[in-house]
Amino acid sequence: MHSPAKHRFHTQVIHAGQKPAEWQGATLPPIYQTASHRHATAENMSSTFSGKTTDHIYMRLTNPTNRVLEEKLCCLEGGKGAVVMASGMAAVTNTCLALLRAGDEFVAGNSLFMSTYLLFSGVFQKFGITARLVDPTRLDELAGAINDKTRLVFLETIGNPKMDVPDLARAAEIAHAHDIPLVVDNTLASPYLCRPLELGADVVLHSTTKYLSGHGAATGGVVIDGGRFVWGARKFPDFKAFIDRKGELALLDKIWREQHINFGTTQAPWHSYLTMLGLDTLALRMERHLANAAAVAQFLLKQKEVTWVNFPGLADHPCHTVAQKQFQGLGFGALLTFGLKDQDACFRFINNLKLIYHLANLGDCKTLVIHPYSSQYLSFTEETRANLSILPNMIRLSVGIEAVEDICEDIQQALAAL
Ligand SMILES: *Cc1c(COP(=O)(O)O)cnc(C)c1O
Repeated sequence: MHSPAKHRFHTQVIHAGQKPAEWQGATLPPIYQTASHRHATAENMSSTFSGKTTDHIYMRLTNPTNRVLEEKLCCLEGGKGAVVMASGMAAVTNTCLALLRAGDEFVAGNSLFMSTYLLFSGVFQKFGITARLVDPTRLDELAGAINDKTRLVFLETIGNPKMDVPDLARAAEIAHAHDIPLVVDNTLASPYLCRPLELGADVVLHSTTKYLSGHGAATGGVVIDGGRFVWGARKFPDFKAFIDRKGELALLDKIWREQHINFGTTQAPWHSYLTMLGLDTLALRMERHLANAAAVAQFLLKQKEVTWVNFPGLADHPCHTVAQKQFQGLGFGALLTFGLKDQDACFRFINNLKLIYHLANLGDCKTLVIHPYSSQYLSFTEETRANLSILPNMIRLSVGIEAVEDICEDIQQALAAL
């Protein structure tokens, strides 16, 4: 019997969720481009609405193409269930709002992805939800920020652009000691480099826009439920109906039923299809991403115009030891930052590049560059930028899978022309 979960990762990325026998022999999933699905009888429609059958009803609820991607990503992260959404931000928002009510608090790392940071530190306040942001590498700070109102801990596997790596296994222990779940945004590592559920996290989410898709062709997000957390009645009284309905997948059901369906964060099946095309090569791409990033970091260290390099793969990086253990020596991600003399030098460097693309994205197979201080973080106060390590002289590089010599040569000629 074919059992994708038993295969090695390189095989799983290609074969998980594949059902050619149900697809008229097609090797790629069909794109079910339909808003709704015809039901043969009134009885069948009713039993689908009651949840007794898992037929499809309407695209905002579920879609067969999306379901294939859900099966694939669930297998890669070792979860029990998954829901794909229109974007990574939809995954972040829906997960948090399923767990949080007005008056609740949660603890999160302070080196968050820019939109997540704005959501947590600003937008959620409108709903009476308080985010306590702490240095995610300081577990004493994390533990100290948890109180009776705290309903979750939220961490990112690798902070961007701070490049910090929290110890997920120990953070999970702290969360569980307080009877609350650990939610991990694993976008920057991908399940190739890190599988947070195996380290003790309870929920993993991704922006599939990045490494999982790899081509920058489609936006998307996913929430994967580990199905292990026990939703205690004292802290989570609002989970009862979802536990009665879906048991171990109560949280995923709550995310889907309360947030995803009603907020309308629907993933287009075409985007799921494009994501799956990219997913086939995830393992191979990650191997090259990780090797190239390590080589580019070493190359940058040797350039006289470069004042500092921030990459967890460097032996003197404060998170090097944790990253080495957590990523099992496979690598350290493919994002890095480095310093030039000042903002003016950064602008001239970017304008001199010939091969590397200047744009606001990461995790693409192409190497990408940006000056975060003057772009994504332009609207942030000077104080917040300093807290987030967003410096005027900082370049962020998302290292792609081109020939590493060509990436380095482009950097070298752009530095030489400063
Ligand atoms: C890009 C990103 C997101 C948001 O994903 P979108 O698909 O752009 O909505 C969330 N978290 C991390 C870590 C990201 O890199």
